[in-house]
Amino acid sequence: MCLLLGTFLFNVLNAQSHPLKQRPDAFDPVPEAAPKAVSMASTVEQMANWDRYPTYSTYLAMMQQWAETFPNLCHVDTIGKSVQGRLILSMYIGIQTDDDLYRPEFFYSSTMHGDEVTGYVMMLRLIDTLLNGYGSNEQYTDLVNRVRISINPLSNPDGTYRNGNNTVQGAMRYNANFVDLNRNYPDPFGTEPLNSQQIENTAMIDYFNAHSFVLSANLHGGSEVMNYPWDSFTSVERPHPDRDWWIEVCRRFVDTSRLYSNSHFRDVLEEGYIAGGDWYVISNGRQDYVNYYHNCREVTMELSTSKTISSNQLPEYWRFLQHSLVNYIEEVFTINSPVEGVVNPIDVRQELVVYPNPTHDKIFLGEEPSDEVSIFNIKGQQLMLLPAGTRLIDLQRLPQGVYFLRSGIRTAKIVKR
Ligand SMILES: [Zn+2]
Repeated sequence: MCLLLGTFLFNVLNAQSHPLKQRPDAFDPVPEAAPKAVSMASTVEQMANWDRYPTYSTYLAMMQQWAETFPNLCHVDTIGKSVQGRLILSMYIGIQTDDDLYRPEFFYSSTMHGDEVTGYVMMLRLIDTLLNGYGSNEQYTDLVNRVRISINPLSNPDGTYRNGNNTVQGAMRYNANFVDLNRNYPDPFGTEPLNSQQIENTAMIDYFNAHSFVLSANLHGGSEVMNYPWDSFTSVERPHPDRDWWIEVCRRFVDTSRLYSNSHFRDVLEEGYIAGGDWYVISNGRQDYVNYYHNCREVTMELSTSKTISSNQLPEYWRFLQHSLVNYIEEVFTINSPVEGVVNPIDVRQELVVYPNPTHDKIFLGEEPSDEVSIFNIKGQQLMLLPAGTRLIDLQRLPQGVYFLRSGIRTAKIVKR
């Protein structure tokens, strides 16, 4: 308690000595000072040096080419379509085995604010790096073998290609209905968003419902800071139950990037990370929606002080971010207990009755679960995913130990002997 208070006071004092920059996410976009030098790649070949932004058709061609070149490692999923009918895609990267449910699911998603395009190219390059490094780079190979990775490079294509499919010049924050997609998600309080749910977000919510991500990140720009939950309240009002873990994870991300370029992640706070609500409280954002409703730990990564950086700066951003971005996927293995932490964010945890417990092989659920049922080990790795309605679960193939069962907001701790 004292430690937490001490850290908090330190943050407050630090915040006072380094006044917080206004959170760009909280206001209408401020026009950026100088027009950016933006070169576009109208063919996949022109992306070779990663110093251009892809046109919309080049983006689609890149995704297709990876899927064709690495059919055993990846495929493209369609999350949905935008208001203007552009595709919202996700690259699934993972080996195909029959023990899929034994590997944790991870999600990267970028550019829900259409003009914040640094993450868009970083994600494309990350896909390329993981796929081409598989089999030769030990870390990438290990990640692709052990984690089910999904990467959505562009979640608001209408905002990014506002001036047509051939340029990101003049990109805008909003979708084609001029709605801010990061103020348009269900809220932990049940606060209604100002605008009706946009189809980009409906598609994303369906996508989250269809997966069991345990860790994710949502990539933005306009500042350089790791923004961890909650966004809906300050850390004094309600600290995230996994606050200490978040601080460790954010610090590792920032420290690693500073090994490659010491000047970054300093424009909001020297530490380079902050609880979102301490920066600025927002409502109906995606981060808290994902943490609260999906028990998935999502952080908001603000990657560049400019929202649309000059295209010739893209390689430099990759140079200092790439190791942090790869290492962040590995954090799926540092989650100690998704059940104790995220599932109980705001006193909503309810115990699910299971018997016999301890058990030798099978357990029965005391009532028919209306949500999918997941089994996690104590490291937070998801081991099994079973459909809603499942009442009998066979744990024979699991070794002896402690497991956590989760269905919606209901949880149980199981001991297998
Ligand atoms: Zn943003």
